[in-house]
Amino acid sequence: MDSNLKLKKQVHQEFMEYLTLHKQRKTPERFAVLDHIYSTKGHFDVDSLYKSMLERSFRVSRATLYNTIDLLLDCGLVVKHQFGGNMSKYERSYGNENHNHVICTTCGEVREMENDDLLTPAQLKKIRKFTVNYYSMYIYGTCSKCTHAKNMKLRRLTRQSNKGKANKGKKQPTTKGKR
Ligand SMILES: [Zn+2]
Ligand SMILES: [Zn+2]
Repeated sequence: MDSNLKLKKQVHQEFMEYLTLHKQRKTPERFAVLDHIYSTKGHFDVDSLYKSMLERSFRVSRATLYNTIDLLLDCGLVVKHQFGGNMSKYERSYGNENHNHVICTTCGEVREMENDDLLTPAQLKKIRKFTVNYYSMYIYGTCSKCTHAKNMKLRRLTRQSNKGKANKGKKQPTTKGKR
């Protein structure tokens, strides 16, 4: 069987059990949301999920999306990320385990990075009284684009304030280039 199909069957089963255990309704919409999340890789927020479902002609209300995501978070089929910024980002959790997130705190870009060799099996064994299924890290910093943009801006402002000193008394295009 196709591995993605197998995965989808597995998560479908899990969600079914969860809904039964928690006496929640098993609506086709909820399963459509689950299926859609497991058909696409990567991070999403409620808006992007809503749009991408519309593109495939699934009309599900935002209220249903929020409600279903809450259920999926609760049963562990979806994880919520803290990437900084004010919009919550989500990601499917199964079949997607071994990666870290490299996050630029300036522009918010998130890159994924395989983490197979960040922790050795010996290091993992040192986590006592605990069975590690998977792990994931958030690595915060500045991407090369933002570093470059910052340097360019700094250079421009320095040049402006130097010119400002040279042309003292003349009209300035910008107000106070000094920091
Ligand atoms: Zn950046
Ligand atoms: Zn990710």
